Amino acid sequence: MKRVLVTGGAGFLGSHLCDRLIARGDDVLCADNFFTGSKRNVSHLFTHPHFELMRHDVTFPLYVEVDQIFNLACPASPVHYQFDPVQTTKTSVHGAINMLGLAKRVRARILQASTSEVYGDPEVHPQPEEYWGKVNPIGVRSCYDEGKRCAETLFFDYHRQHNLEIKVMRIFNTYGPRMHPNDGRVVSNFIVQALKGEDISIYGDGQQTRSFCYVDDLIEGMLCMMDSPAEFTGPVNVGNPGEFTMLQLAEEVLRLTGSRSKLIFKPLPQDDPRQRKPDIALAQEKLGWQPRVSLEDGLKETIEYFRGIIEHADFATRS
Ligand code: NAD
Ligand code: UDP
Repeated sequence: MKRVLVTGGAGFLGSHLCDRLIARGDDVLCADNFFTGSKRNVSHLFTHPHFELMRHDVTFPLYVEVDQIFNLACPASPVHYQFDPVQTTKTSVHGAINMLGLAKRVRARILQASTSEVYGDPEVHPQPEEYWGKVNPIGVRSCYDEGKRCAETLFFDYHRQHNLEIKVMRIFNTYGPRMHPNDGRVVSNFIVQALKGEDISIYGDGQQTRSFCYVDDLIEGMLCMMDSPAEFTGPVNVGNPGEFTMLQLAEEVLRLTGSRSKLIFKPLPQDDPRQRKPDIALAQEKLGWQPRVSLEDGLKETIEYFRGIIEHADFATRS
């Protein structure tokens, strides 16, 4: 049985990853400081004999014995990572150093949850892995973008210097059940607003694009990456190349929820990328992976999830 550490395991992606690892028979240690994650996301695993939850901040060293490490700890939503930007950089950089140090001591294979944000506001479209990006080093998104870029540097230096088995995966916008309702990301915002009959907040003119990957597809890609041959380090893009403007996304959410919410326009946040779409040729070739879930099907699942928690919250307030 493999002993697997998932940092950030009580978060949105981490909790789905823990589910998949437990289902395939691994022994899972989930470490999280609960900044944006929650025990609720993994509470269904508490009674499982091969699951263990530990409160731990990755900016501090961790001494455990494991065979594989998935390093996901880091707030992902701009609202959350900009709340305490210094801590965000520390989480990416000190967190990477600590987890790489752990991997080196126990000779574990380690995967980094990197991000499409390493491409910044890209001039190359779609973005292939060879593109070095256009990132503002001093803006409000920099704590996240530069933190993740530095983490990639550390991963490759540990690989070159210490011969560590590394896997670097650049995740593009992913959505699905267990996103935090107040997370501030576009999919959760639009769905919650539509279900509550509130105005849909479009930032800027809504013509900026993103490519949305359903969580099940993403986790499948992550497992394929971890299990790929040792010589394949990445970086590899994992995401869904279907590209939509935020206006198109809003209209799709309104259609699927049957909501009559109005669209309202708010200022575009600083350094908000104009366009984003992964080139996934490398993932297809090296991992035999590609996404399967359409935006419509993924949104339906996500809408059902949010409908459930919103109804539950109303019930809790009434009773
Ligand atoms: P999330 O905010 O739901 O999960 C992050 C988890 O990390 C949370 O449980 C949080 O409590 C934990 N955490 C934060 N700081 C920590 C620290 N110092 N020590 C220990 N735990 C800490 O976000 P997510 O969407 O699940 O993202 C998971 C990872 O994937 C992140 O590294 C993120 O950068 C990356 N990623 C996600 C997306 C996406 O669209 N979801 C896109 C690109 C990259
Ligand atoms: N966005 C929006 N309304 C919202 C939240 C976000 O129009 O309520 C826009 C945001 O400006 C960005 C896109 O949606 O252009 C994706 O934002 P998100 O925070 O989900 O992810 P990221 O910008 O990190 O890709």
